[in-house]
Amino acid sequence: MSQLPSDALVFFGSTGDLAYKKIFPALQALVRRGALDVPVIGVARSGWTVAQLRERVRSSLENHGGLDPGAFDKLVSLLRYVDGDYADAATFVALRRALGRAERPLHYLAIPPSAFIEVIGGLTHAGLADQARVVTEKPFGRDLASARALNRTLHQVFPESSIFRIDHFLGKEPVENLVYFRFANASIEPIWNRVYVHTVQITMAERFGVEGRGKFYEEAGAIRDVIQNHMLQVAAILAMDAPVGQSVEAIRTEKARVLQAIAPLDPAHVVRGQFRGYKDEPGVSPDSNVETFAAVELRVESERWAGVPFYIRAGKRLPVTATEVLVTLEQTPHEVFGERRSADYFRFRLDPEVTLAIGMHVKRPGHGMVGRDVELVAVSAPGGDELLPYERLLGDAMVGDVSLFAREDSIEAQWRVVDPVLGGETPLYVYEPGCWGPAEAARIAAACGGWHQPR
Ligand code: NDP
Repeated sequence: MSQLPSDALVFFGSTGDLAYKKIFPALQALVRRGALDVPVIGVARSGWTVAQLRERVRSSLENHGGLDPGAFDKLVSLLRYVDGDYADAATFVALRRALGRAERPLHYLAIPPSAFIEVIGGLTHAGLADQARVVTEKPFGRDLASARALNRTLHQVFPESSIFRIDHFLGKEPVENLVYFRFANASIEPIWNRVYVHTVQITMAERFGVEGRGKFYEEAGAIRDVIQNHMLQVAAILAMDAPVGQSVEAIRTEKARVLQAIAPLDPAHVVRGQFRGYKDEPGVSPDSNVETFAAVELRVESERWAGVPFYIRAGKRLPVTATEVLVTLEQTPHEVFGERRSADYFRFRLDPEVTLAIGMHVKRPGHGMVGRDVELVAVSAPGGDELLPYERLLGDAMVGDVSLFAREDSIEAQWRVVDPVLGGETPLYVYEPGCWGPAEAARIAAACGGWHQPR
């Protein structure tokens, strides 16, 4: 596989929701910093013209992040449009024409996963897969079997080094900082294990609901939508061993190793919830059994983590929008000052603001050895990455850098973890919008002091 940059970006799904909300702003940002200067070819079946697609880009930028006139003009000058159904071979013939002299396109599949295999087939038959790279959107499969089948299909055409499976969490600055913070500080690694760490909690809370995407959500649910991918990737970053060497595969290899050490979820350690009113959303079945909330306990079966519970919780219509990690340390072995204070902790806020902080205790001024809790803040930054996650990821894919993408073995290990609870057999508890999910979720973290509630 050539390591030359891709010489065209083919963008399947250019008329869709993701394109409008995330991709056009990312493309404008790439153009602005000079990282995108090749034809950008939208492919969809709306019967549009390139002029209509340009107007869509304008509207997208005006509503999502702002239009930069210089970068916008440049972006639309790169833009082309091919109209046609992905099931029709003529679409790929037209795409071939639109590619002109480009020989190493990046094909970005920002389309429903059900269309992936059709598009890969169309590209292959039209000879558009040789020397090409492919980016797939999440979800990558619906379960372990379908993810394996999709990997097999992709590998018939593309080597692993040309496959870029997006998990946009991996493009977030604070998630990268988590890796850096863990391994760049000598004080952390010696205590990052079962001897000193009591529990690890990861919460991804969203105040909002399904926002008109009920039909999509009915196919997903919280476990497929965010636990299988984003939450398990964050868990892997927290639990992995130090990467060996500087290669682009070094971190991916350690993440895959630790993901393979996570035991498949035990249904007894999973609580699913659905917010009241979900069934009234457009596109949602009146008897839907889909969870909008899930709380799970993971067990990492390794020498480092044996016996340390990893609690993960994700849900919609919760009290806040925040993604936060809390790593609680063991209590001091002896109460030297005769008082029991809460345990020390590491708090990593990943969204919407960024905080990397350590909770400790100092003496309260005045008489007596009485403590107070303090937080030492290493990073505190407002929300909004310097680089948009999609800007970073698409820019990396264009130059063939796979490091921030999910590898085949990781994806399959992630599905293996959640596979036992994807059938919807565990009870589904209704919760009121604006609370922290169903009361039953408390039992998941009860043995280790209960859930930490991000503010
Ligand atoms: P949409 O349904 O909004 O858009 C789908 C796009 O694919 C449209 O451009 C549509 O074209 C095109 N398309 C689908 N089938 C065909 C076909 N047979 N022939 C030609 N064009 C076709 O989906 P989203 O943009 O919401 O999602 C796209 C992907 O991104 C999915 O994998 C989703 O899971 C993922 N994703 C989406 C997020 C979001 O917030 N929307 C967030 C994270 C991931 P046309 O409009 O012309 O029919």
